[in-house]
Amino acid sequence: MQRKHIAIIGGGIGGLASAILLARAGYRVSLFEKNPTLGGVCNRSSEDGFTFDTGPSWYMMPEVYEEFFNSVGENIRDYLKLVRLDPSQKAFFDGRPQPYEFSSDFEKDKKVFEALAPNSESALGKYYARAKRRYKIAMPHIRNERSETILAYMKLFFSGKVFGLGRMGTMQREISRLTPSSELRAILSVPSLFLGTMPWRVPSLFSFLTYADFGKGIWYPMGGMYKIVEALVAVGKKNAVEYHTSSPVRRVETEGGRAIGLTLENGERITADIVLSNADRSHTEQLLPASDRDHSDAFWKKKIPTFGAVLIFLGVSKKLPELAHHNFFFAENWDEHLHDIERGVLSQNPSFYVNIPSATDPSCAPSGMENVFVLIPVPASTSLTKEDLDACADRVIEKIATRVPSFKDSIALDRRWYPSDFGEKYNSFKNSALGLALTHFQTAPFRPSHTSRHIDNLYFVGSTTNPGAGVPACFLSAERVVKQIEKAET
Ligand SMILES: Cc1cc2nc3c(=O)[nH]c(=O)nc-3n(C[C@H](O)[C@H](O)[C@H](O)COP(=O)(O)OP(=O)(O)OC[C@H]3O[C@@H](n4cnc5c(N)ncnc54)[C@H](O)[C@@H]3O)c2cc1C
Repeated sequence: MQRKHIAIIGGGIGGLASAILLARAGYRVSLFEKNPTLGGVCNRSSEDGFTFDTGPSWYMMPEVYEEFFNSVGENIRDYLKLVRLDPSQKAFFDGRPQPYEFSSDFEKDKKVFEALAPNSESALGKYYARAKRRYKIAMPHIRNERSETILAYMKLFFSGKVFGLGRMGTMQREISRLTPSSELRAILSVPSLFLGTMPWRVPSLFSFLTYADFGKGIWYPMGGMYKIVEALVAVGKKNAVEYHTSSPVRRVETEGGRAIGLTLENGERITADIVLSNADRSHTEQLLPASDRDHSDAFWKKKIPTFGAVLIFLGVSKKLPELAHHNFFFAENWDEHLHDIERGVLSQNPSFYVNIPSATDPSCAPSGMENVFVLIPVPASTSLTKEDLDACADRVIEKIATRVPSFKDSIALDRRWYPSDFGEKYNSFKNSALGLALTHFQTAPFRPSHTSRHIDNLYFVGSTTNPGAGVPACFLSAERVVKQIEKAET
């Protein structure tokens, strides 16, 4: 019997992971990616001996990666050489001369927190314990789609088990009650930035990421995060997935309420029994005839994107012992920066993140040098000028130089990406870095689903669907959508 053919639009983590699961379930799978390389935002660029991961840099929740590889008959250790980072992160605060180093081992880190915010230990211990319980309760719900309907979602919040874990408030509210220390609040709010959203918009349930950070450890795949993409493609090839890069999709072809294939930008027609899109959900709707779209333009206009990002890729011609692999620079008024993002303006004193993989992995930079990746959260707006964005990037470089002697003089390579690059490269939602924000009303049942209301055999996977942004979340998204496809096909 001829195998059914599934055409996948987009080669981000969600698309690559789904391709493997579907191939192993017996489908013929072809994947069409608009860019010359696979990986979506999890990508890589190299120049003058410096190699940069251009998207994710935090390898968190290692068990999700491991379980995915196990589920497709593979051992992740055959593909990735993982090292646990210690220190896992370094925090620099305006007005504090010395940085604070964390290990992502809560027992050890308690002392650092106590030095930062005296007398916080007991409250912090409770916060951490709650984050851990939330992690243990939330993960099976996410995996088994037990939060997909409004009723199930409400049950998750109000069931006796979860009710004791905190109200249905926001991360900000919970953290503010915990401690008056603005430094501690800033560190505990970092998970909201992993989700690309303000802590006052993120449901408090997501504090489970604090446990992922300080309880499960931060890891690094030697060679860089792009090794994850290479591993997925290697496993896909073993399972006969066909990859087509530089193949932007222009249209999803439909007939009588079913998808019948794709038309590529070059005019080529691809017939398919099922279509799965890993491209941004609102972009995918634009590929459909208007009558087949689930949502109007007005619906998407109202949706809140995550923040945008200024990315700076620096090749630095000396070692930087002052910095660790992961570094946060927190501005004195952390909230003010985030409010500026919501107001659509560039902050004069932003907080930002600095990643130096060559601190762990010498293969990323020429000998004696460092590859430095800087991420500044900014509004995901196209109205910001290149001059203003450049000035913002320059201010951040100046700020790093206050902690690292002769930093500016040692910059041998300086490349920058702005929010519009995300729109142009990946068709990302409103030029945002991480797609649709995870606010109360854009989470779980309120988030665009894996299925189409109008087209029976059209599905969606990746960060703009459930459960949301992050590499582990996209693995889970793939597992969920493939379960739904298989259920519909039997
Ligand atoms: C700067 C940055 C830092 C991050 N840091 C972390 C981190 O440290 N840890 C972590 O876990 N996560 C991190 N994330 C989030 C994580 O990387 C993403 O959530 C995840 O990789 C998104 O995967 P996805 O499946 O949604 O696909 P995407 O990466 O969104 O890929 C979608 C793909 O579809 C393609 N496409 C779009 N339109 C078309 C079309 N018409 N035809 C064909 N192809 C098309 C795009 O080119 C793209 O390749 C970060 C993200 C960014 C941007």
